[in-house]
Amino acid sequence: MTRTKELFQYPEEVRSRFFETDDLVFRDGRRVTPGDIWDFMTEEGPRRHPHLFSDSRYHGLSKDTNLISGVKRNYFSITVHDRLTEAARNGVPVVFIQGGQTHEPYYAAGGIPTRPGMVNGWATNLKENQDYQEADFRRLQIREIGRQELTVEACQTAKYEIIQEGMVPIALIAPYLCLRCSDIAYGVEAHRHGNIKIPLLLVDSPVNHQRDKKWAAEYVADNLRRLTQKIGELGNREVTDEDIMNEIKLHNQKRRLARDYVKLWWGAKVPPTNSTDHTGIMQLGNESNSDPVAAKQILEESYNEVKDSVKNSIKGEGIEDDPVRLFICGSCVNPSMKHVDSLGGVVVGKDDGWSEVSVDVEETGDPYEKLAKAIVSFPYELPTEERGLWTAEQVVRSNADGLIFMHQWGCNYQSGAARMVADVVREETGIPTITIERAMAESREGHEQMHSRVEIFIEMLR
Ligand code: SF4
Repeated sequence: MTRTKELFQYPEEVRSRFFETDDLVFRDGRRVTPGDIWDFMTEEGPRRHPHLFSDSRYHGLSKDTNLISGVKRNYFSITVHDRLTEAARNGVPVVFIQGGQTHEPYYAAGGIPTRPGMVNGWATNLKENQDYQEADFRRLQIREIGRQELTVEACQTAKYEIIQEGMVPIALIAPYLCLRCSDIAYGVEAHRHGNIKIPLLLVDSPVNHQRDKKWAAEYVADNLRRLTQKIGELGNREVTDEDIMNEIKLHNQKRRLARDYVKLWWGAKVPPTNSTDHTGIMQLGNESNSDPVAAKQILEESYNEVKDSVKNSIKGEGIEDDPVRLFICGSCVNPSMKHVDSLGGVVVGKDDGWSEVSVDVEETGDPYEKLAKAIVSFPYELPTEERGLWTAEQVVRSNADGLIFMHQWGCNYQSGAARMVADVVREETGIPTITIERAMAESREGHEQMHSRVEIFIEMLR
């Protein structure tokens, strides 16, 4: 490995403050002390995965080392691949899903849901000691297998090739088939003809005013029952309604914490975190990185710390005074958070993920029906005009100055919805909007066109 740049390091003065924080406690009762986390984040992690500690104006960990909860959050996300490997080794069914969907049934049935981005990172990090360029190249090589075996006409982040090459041990392919992602439906069907036969189970989700139809919720509830039964069979475990309801309650707590955090952030006089930290904290409302109990603890600690920053009007590191506030739409793709901050902007919100965090599941009655009712109500999945109206409300609430709708090359549903959502938001709120298609290159350094368009948009908003 050729080391081209210095790696990110936490300054020594952060250590004593971090050591005063609590152990990170996982669902099985395992505790990781601040000392263990510190050792990983300063020695083991940079040694095993230098590319994740690589730093530039476009990529890398947040430089806000005053935000102490960030150390634990970064540890939690970097070590998820080790937890997935260990879980699979212990017979826990690791289930392939798509991003932006509820995770309760998977966890309640004793499985772990993994979305394409996580599978991608898992496969990349199986090879250790790679610098940033080497990891990029490895991802591109893996993607090329998918291009050859399937087509270049799809984004390929559905990671067909990783699963079919047997790089990571997936026990079941069982995503929701909803409007968020076109590649998932396509990729899942392709697995029927792949060399490796992995059980498939599609959680079908009706579209077109589905929230107003009783049969739609009943149909999704039946799909969810099949799903938990299948995961239970694979893990040799009986799944009760009580398991599902307990999981719903835990995820409702996470969603409420994330909403409280965002409300606090949106109402602050100055942005209390930079864009990297803000989106990282928000994301934990929906994503649990293999352990919802630990994810909830990190959300709580982040919320409490940010609350103090807001009270004392402390601004996130790297944010200009009075930055241009951007709301981002679209699946699986963002502008570079660091780049936005360096241009005098800040990302205030993101519809993907926030949509699921916005809807609680009722905690009485049949848990499957209540979960299904929430799933068919997600704003991201509504007819496009209604999705646009909901997005406009979020733009107003977050006091955004502009909206960027991004989509990947080959992301067929989102590319179709982009202009209409952006137009509805412009009409309803009067703010400028732009749609940007991102080329499907892995490297953040290779996204010049996207970076320039974001830069020009921020300049225009100024
Ligand atoms: S970019 Fe679009 S099509 Fe590709 S995985 Fe993400 S949501 Fe699916």
